[in-house]
Amino acid sequence: MKTIGMLGGMSWESTSTYYRAINEGIRNTLGGLHSAKIVLYSVNFEEIEKLQHANDWNATAVVLIQAAQAVEAADADFLLICTNTMHKVAQQIEAAISIPLIHIADATAEQLLKDGVGKVGLLGTRFTMEQEFYRERLTQRFGIEVLIPERSERELVHRVIYDELCLGKIEANSRSEYQSIISNMANRGARAVILGCTEIALLVQQQHTDTPLYDTTQLHCDKAVRTATAC
Ligand code: GLU
Repeated sequence: MKTIGMLGGMSWESTSTYYRAINEGIRNTLGGLHSAKIVLYSVNFEEIEKLQHANDWNATAVVLIQAAQAVEAADADFLLICTNTMHKVAQQIEAAISIPLIHIADATAEQLLKDGVGKVGLLGTRFTMEQEFYRERLTQRFGIEVLIPERSERELVHRVIYDELCLGKIEANSRSEYQSIISNMANRGARAVILGCTEIALLVQQQHTDTPLYDTTQLHCDKAVRTATAC
């Protein structure tokens, strides 16, 4: 079995989901008392979040490159960045290490294509929804058309991520808001919605909507488990 490297702590609420989902995946695949071999570097999210909102992405890359190199030095065979947003600097991280990176958008797009979904809605931080690094990867590499919520909806989605979900707060009102944003995108033609932030599935799960949801956290973990157990 290969050793899974993880850059976590962004936020730790979702890193704890990763830890559980990966271990469950390894147990389901290999049975018995098998558990995942993991090297986790968990950063201080306060530091990262301040740099994100100051638009200092190069400084976030410096922090994450140092962490990724430590994960590689600790013998991980491949790397997961356990947040969609920080894939903004995925290329810089990838260039600074010699182990492969499993990109969260690729794990998601592969499943969408398998299911024949060509037009999706995207929920995530403002950075993920509005900037090009994520949407363009889906569109250019995979030919998937991406819709994003209206401006005021994007602000709400972003605020809930940072002020609630990353702090472990799960609020029924916010769930209702997310449900209506999801159905608005479905009405505009999205055949499914990507939960493109690793904390969103803490708030909204498939039972809360008829629109098919693609949870990036789970899909990223599934691909990590397949990679770790492949011969
Ligand atoms: N975990 C979130 C994501 O998947 C947001 C936190 C962050 O900005 O890294 O985008």
